[in-house]
Amino acid sequence: MKGIMKTNMKIKMNVSIAILLALTIVAGCGSKNEGASTISPSPTPSASVTTSPTATPSAGTTPATTSPAATATGKPSSNPVTSPAASSTPTKNGAVQVIAKPESITALVNKMNSLPSSYEPTDLVYPNIAFTFSEKIDKRKMRQVAATAIEKLFAGAAKDGVPLAGVSAYRSYATQKSLFEAYVKKDGEEKAKTYSAVPGTSEHETGLAIDVAGSNGKCAASDCFGGTKEAIWLEKHASEYGFIIRYPQGKAAITGYQYEPWHLRYVGTDIAKEIQSKNVTMEEYYHTVPVSK
Ligand SMILES: [Zn+2]
Repeated sequence: MKGIMKTNMKIKMNVSIAILLALTIVAGCGSKNEGASTISPSPTPSASVTTSPTATPSAGTTPATTSPAATATGKPSSNPVTSPAASSTPTKNGAVQVIAKPESITALVNKMNSLPSSYEPTDLVYPNIAFTFSEKIDKRKMRQVAATAIEKLFAGAAKDGVPLAGVSAYRSYATQKSLFEAYVKKDGEEKAKTYSAVPGTSEHETGLAIDVAGSNGKCAASDCFGGTKEAIWLEKHASEYGFIIRYPQGKAAITGYQYEPWHLRYVGTDIAKEIQSKNVTMEEYYHTVPVSK
């Protein structure tokens, strides 16, 4: 395998990239206005090369996450009710549980259910869709199954005269960690938690979530996106492609997040359609306790 030197360099590179990204990326859904500043970590071509901050954080528990996605790419579980809730185990953080099967397409990730710090999807790819920025960086990535689905969703929307653009998709644990720590430094932990996700608890770390906007990038990840033709199209059609509006209006007490009409989470078409038709959140679908903020 690789020598220590090489590994160290990689870690250093990842850390510096993470810091760069920290200055520009949204915290975790829960934070807004990223798209408005259509940014990108200034010229760090190498950013796209490093898919893996794997080596970096190792604070938390270390579940078997090295080869999960091999079995995960597939179909949504047909027995969702048993999967997520049952797959978590208590952690040192008291109420927060570490998700045992982070690679599951139906994994429930929220403020009470955290991805392991060592988790990194193994099948991340660059979906062939427009983004509000041009750099080929990590936040364009999604897991294969979600990437294929988002390509179809974007094509469907465009066909209906509603062209979309991606704002932010995958975010590594390390990036989320740097970001969160920067916010804590700035505002203190309590306040930071109100607008930024604690590392491990951002759905963007699954590679199954993406924030979208209209192709002009207007109102990207901002409240004004609500009610736009893009938001209305998504509410109506996202489930046909396997996505849900993860943080619906009026459900903050359950999801832990205010309405985010731009944040899509892939769960597979069966579950997405069921969640949409029942007008419930993922938490309610799995009968888990509401997530307090
Ligand atoms: Zn989001």
